[in-house]
Amino acid sequence: MTGVVKGGQGKALFLDRDGTLIRDCDYLADPDRVDVLPGVPEALGRARRMGYLMFLFTNQSGVGRGYFGMEAVEAVNRRMEELIGLEPPLFREIGIAPEAPVQPHMYRKPSPRFILEMIERYALDPERCWMAGDSESDVLAGINAGIRAAALATGKNGDPSNWPEVAEHRVPVFVDLRAFVATLEET
Ligand SMILES: [Mg+2]
Repeated sequence: MTGVVKGGQGKALFLDRDGTLIRDCDYLADPDRVDVLPGVPEALGRARRMGYLMFLFTNQSGVGRGYFGMEAVEAVNRRMEELIGLEPPLFREIGIAPEAPVQPHMYRKPSPRFILEMIERYALDPERCWMAGDSESDVLAGINAGIRAAALATGKNGDPSNWPEVAEHRVPVFVDLRAFVATLEET
Protein backbone atom coordinates (compact mmCIF):
# COMPACT_ATOMS: atom_id res chain seq x y z
CA MET A 1 0.00 0.00 0.00
CA THR A 2 1.63 3.22 -1.09
CA GLY A 3 -0.22 6.40 -0.32
CA VAL A 4 -0.19 9.59 -2.32
CA VAL A 5 0.30 12.56 -0.09
CA LYS A 6 1.36 16.12 -0.61
CA GLY A 7 5.02 16.36 0.34
CA GLY A 8 7.33 19.31 0.80
CA GLN A 9 11.01 20.00 1.30
CA GLY A 10 11.62 18.83 4.86
CA LYS A 11 13.85 15.94 5.79
CA ALA A 12 13.29 13.46 8.57
CA LEU A 13 14.35 10.24 10.21
CA PHE A 14 11.73 7.76 11.34
CA LEU A 15 13.30 5.59 14.00
CA ASP A 16 12.26 2.27 15.42
CA ARG A 17 12.78 1.96 19.18
CA ASP A 18 13.48 -1.62 20.35
CA GLY A 19 16.64 -3.06 18.84
CA THR A 20 17.40 0.25 17.14
CA LEU A 21 17.76 2.92 19.85
CA ILE A 22 17.64 0.66 22.91
CA ARG A 23 18.39 -3.00 23.57
CA ASP A 24 15.46 -5.18 22.61
CA CYS A 25 13.95 -6.70 25.75
CA ASP A 26 10.71 -8.46 24.85
CA TYR A 27 7.66 -6.48 25.97
CA LEU A 28 9.67 -3.85 27.79
CA ALA A 29 7.49 -2.03 30.33
CA ASP A 30 10.03 -1.19 33.04
CA PRO A 31 11.93 2.10 32.64
CA ASP A 32 14.74 0.72 34.81
CA ARG A 33 15.57 -1.82 32.11
CA VAL A 34 16.11 0.74 29.37
CA ASP A 35 19.58 0.33 27.89
CA VAL A 36 20.55 2.77 25.12
CA LEU A 37 22.62 1.13 22.38
CA PRO A 38 26.20 2.35 21.83
CA GLY A 39 26.58 5.38 19.59
CA VAL A 40 22.89 6.30 19.61
CA PRO A 41 23.19 9.67 21.43
CA GLU A 42 26.00 10.77 19.10
CA ALA A 43 24.10 9.62 16.02
CA LEU A 44 20.93 11.45 17.01
CA GLY A 45 22.92 14.56 17.90
CA ARG A 46 24.53 14.52 14.46
CA ALA A 47 21.21 14.00 12.69
CA ARG A 48 19.68 16.87 14.62
CA ARG A 49 22.57 19.21 13.79
CA MET A 50 22.08 18.28 10.14
CA GLY A 51 18.50 19.49 10.38
CA TYR A 52 16.64 16.18 10.33
CA LEU A 53 13.32 16.14 12.11
CA MET A 54 13.12 12.97 14.16
CA PHE A 55 10.10 10.76 14.71
CA LEU A 56 9.91 7.69 16.90
CA PHE A 57 7.81 4.92 15.37
CA THR A 58 7.36 1.82 17.50
CA ASN A 59 5.17 -1.26 17.41
CA GLN A 60 4.07 -2.11 20.95
CA SER A 61 1.86 -5.17 20.66
CA GLY A 62 2.26 -5.72 24.42
CA VAL A 63 -0.46 -3.07 24.79
CA GLY A 64 -2.87 -4.86 22.45
CA ARG A 65 -2.08 -8.16 24.11
CA GLY A 66 -2.99 -6.65 27.47
CA TYR A 67 0.49 -7.07 29.00
CA PHE A 68 0.85 -3.36 29.84
CA GLY A 69 -0.73 0.00 29.11
CA MET A 70 0.27 2.97 27.00
CA GLU A 71 1.52 4.75 30.13
CA ALA A 72 4.21 2.05 30.51
CA VAL A 73 5.31 2.59 26.91
CA GLU A 74 5.45 6.32 27.53
CA ALA A 75 7.47 5.85 30.74
CA VAL A 76 10.01 3.74 28.83
CA ASN A 77 10.16 6.40 26.10
CA ARG A 78 10.76 9.13 28.66
CA ARG A 79 13.55 7.15 30.30
CA MET A 80 15.13 6.50 26.93
CA GLU A 81 15.09 10.22 26.08
CA GLU A 82 16.56 11.03 29.48
CA LEU A 83 19.42 8.57 28.96
CA ILE A 84 20.07 9.79 25.43
CA GLY A 85 20.51 13.19 27.03
CA LEU A 86 19.88 15.56 24.13
CA GLU A 87 17.98 18.79 24.62
CA PRO A 88 14.25 17.91 24.55
CA PRO A 89 12.08 17.43 22.67
CA LEU A 90 14.10 14.76 20.90
CA PHE A 91 11.21 13.61 18.71
CA ARG A 92 8.84 15.87 16.84
CA GLU A 93 6.14 13.24 17.25
CA ILE A 94 5.96 9.70 18.54
CA GLY A 95 3.93 7.01 16.81
CA ILE A 96 3.05 4.10 19.07
CA ALA A 97 1.21 1.23 17.35
CA PRO A 98 -0.49 -0.74 20.12
CA GLU A 99 -2.16 -3.39 17.99
CA ALA A 100 -1.52 -7.07 18.57
CA PRO A 101 -0.81 -8.98 15.34
CA VAL A 102 -4.31 -10.53 15.39
CA GLN A 103 -6.06 -7.18 15.78
CA PRO A 104 -6.96 -4.92 12.85
CA HIS A 105 -3.91 -2.82 11.98
CA MET A 106 -4.04 0.94 11.81
CA TYR A 107 -0.53 2.06 12.57
CA ARG A 108 1.31 -1.20 13.16
CA LYS A 109 4.38 -1.45 10.94
CA PRO A 110 4.61 -2.38 8.08
CA SER A 111 1.65 0.03 7.77
CA PRO A 112 2.98 3.32 6.39
CA ARG A 113 0.12 5.31 7.91
CA PHE A 114 2.08 7.17 10.60
CA ILE A 115 4.84 8.09 8.15
CA LEU A 116 2.36 9.31 5.55
CA GLU A 117 0.58 11.46 8.11
CA MET A 118 3.87 13.02 9.20
CA ILE A 119 4.95 13.68 5.60
CA GLU A 120 1.80 15.66 5.08
CA ARG A 121 1.77 17.41 8.46
CA TYR A 122 5.41 18.52 8.31
CA ALA A 123 5.71 19.02 4.54
CA LEU A 124 8.44 16.41 4.25
CA ASP A 125 10.13 15.35 1.03
CA PRO A 126 9.86 11.54 0.82
CA GLU A 127 13.19 11.42 -1.01
CA ARG A 128 14.87 12.98 2.01
CA CYS A 129 13.20 10.80 4.63
CA TRP A 130 14.38 7.49 6.04
CA MET A 131 12.85 4.73 8.11
CA ALA A 132 15.61 3.02 10.08
CA GLY A 133 15.13 -0.14 12.09
CA ASP A 134 16.20 -3.65 12.93
CA SER A 135 13.15 -5.52 11.57
CA GLU A 136 11.66 -6.38 8.23
CA SER A 137 8.51 -4.54 9.30
CA ASP A 138 10.56 -1.33 9.65
CA VAL A 139 12.04 -1.68 6.20
CA LEU A 140 8.63 -2.46 4.72
CA ALA A 141 6.95 0.48 6.47
CA GLY A 142 9.49 2.78 4.82
CA ILE A 143 9.04 1.15 1.42
CA ASN A 144 5.25 1.23 1.75
CA ALA A 145 5.39 4.94 2.58
CA GLY A 146 7.57 5.69 -0.43
CA ILE A 147 10.51 6.91 1.65
CA ARG A 148 13.98 5.39 1.98
CA ALA A 149 14.75 2.51 4.29
CA ALA A 150 17.84 1.51 6.26
CA ALA A 151 18.24 -1.91 7.89
CA LEU A 152 20.30 -2.07 11.07
CA ALA A 153 21.99 -5.22 12.38
CA THR A 154 21.45 -4.26 16.03
CA GLY A 155 18.36 -6.30 16.82
CA LYS A 156 17.40 -9.86 17.48
CA ASN A 157 16.59 -10.62 13.89
CA GLY A 158 20.09 -11.37 12.69
CA ASP A 159 21.82 -10.01 9.64
CA PRO A 160 19.36 -7.98 7.54
CA SER A 161 21.34 -8.87 4.41
CA ASN A 162 19.40 -12.14 4.40
CA TRP A 163 15.95 -10.57 4.34
CA PRO A 164 14.15 -10.83 1.00
CA GLU A 165 12.89 -7.22 1.14
CA VAL A 166 16.41 -5.94 1.63
CA ALA A 167 17.69 -7.69 -1.47
CA GLU A 168 14.62 -6.95 -3.55
CA HIS A 169 14.55 -3.22 -2.78
CA ARG A 170 18.33 -2.79 -2.44
CA VAL A 171 17.97 -1.52 1.10
CA PRO A 172 21.32 -0.52 2.61
CA VAL A 173 22.41 -2.47 5.69
CA PHE A 174 24.40 -0.92 8.54
CA VAL A 175 26.02 -2.34 11.67
CA ASP A 176 24.22 0.24 13.81
CA LEU A 177 22.49 3.61 13.86
CA ARG A 178 25.77 5.50 14.11
CA ALA A 179 27.08 3.89 10.93
CA PHE A 180 23.86 4.78 9.11
CA VAL A 181 23.76 8.41 10.27
CA ALA A 182 27.43 8.81 9.33
CA THR A 183 26.42 8.26 5.69
CA LEU A 184 23.83 11.06 5.63
CA GLU A 185 24.99 14.04 3.66
CA GLU A 186 24.89 17.69 4.61
CA THR A 187 22.21 18.76 2.18
MG1 LIG B 1 12.89 -3.16 16.51
